[in-house]
Amino acid sequence: MKIKNIADQSLQNQSISRDDALFLMRINGDEVYDLFYWANQIRLKYFGHHVKACSIVSAKQGRCTEDCSFCSQSSRYHTGIEEFPLIDTNRILDIAKCAEQTGANSIGIVTSGYSISKSADLDKICRAIKAVVTGSCIHPHGSFGILTKEMALSLVKCGLKRLNHNLETSERFFPNICSTHTFRDRVNTICVAKEVGLEICSGAIFGIGEAVEDRIDLAFTLKNLDVDVVPLNFLHPVSGTPLESSIPLPPMEALKIISVFRFILPDKEIKIAGGREKNLRDLQSWMFYAGANSTMIGNYLTTTGRKIEDDLEMIKDLHLELQTS
Ligand code: SF4
Repeated sequence: MKIKNIADQSLQNQSISRDDALFLMRINGDEVYDLFYWANQIRLKYFGHHVKACSIVSAKQGRCTEDCSFCSQSSRYHTGIEEFPLIDTNRILDIAKCAEQTGANSIGIVTSGYSISKSADLDKICRAIKAVVTGSCIHPHGSFGILTKEMALSLVKCGLKRLNHNLETSERFFPNICSTHTFRDRVNTICVAKEVGLEICSGAIFGIGEAVEDRIDLAFTLKNLDVDVVPLNFLHPVSGTPLESSIPLPPMEALKIISVFRFILPDKEIKIAGGREKNLRDLQSWMFYAGANSTMIGNYLTTTGRKIEDDLEMIKDLHLELQTS
């Protein structure tokens, strides 16, 4: 009964309380199925049977000065990933066209590093975004680290619609996973991007040692920032990183997180991103029933996703409709 009462508030797009969110996150046993049921009702109310899929291209990889403990791209860790400088515009356009053909409605151009250099790399990225805008129908999105307002404006002028910039975890827990920049640095980038009119895609990574309270606090921070899309990543431990020995979350725990985010952010696009194969395992198709309305398809930055055909078949088998516009 209590779950339904909280769900009624989300169904009316009223904010649920932090205490109620904590209650939901701590549900165990058979009641988790009630949690999923109501999260699904909220998803259906705001999104019906439509789901979205996006792809990403790793446009610059490795050699990052930062020390995010979950990331294989930090130069401080010996992870053996392939490293490369910013790839050519034509290569980005080709990947965007392929993603469009598979059903993705956006392509995220992602560069490693604290930021992008204001001169050479920014100009090249702007050219790539323009090429995607004129040469395909897929929406160009991007993730370029910490940005100044001037840089964000340049990206808008060349046609960028949405910036991805994950907050990763709560402000309290952030220093445990990164010592080279702050949570506030990340929030500032979101604020300057909003000021210049970019849509914001910002989310989290779970299974990095955070507490239940950190998950809730991050969800409310994202709600207060009024971000447009919330990608939820689950740790895929990479050998050589400080979190290499972390045990992936149990699938039901990962699904519970998805559901509680749906209760807190009822009308926002909740996208399941990296690590779903490792953490959800055979329960991947449950992510929509748990409240997600969007997913990443294809490979991630330095880890492989499952076959795109399998994801498209999963969506079809669930009688969900892939929204390509
Ligand atoms: S998450 Fe981004 S900033 Fe942090 S180490 Fe990886 S590439 Fe660098």
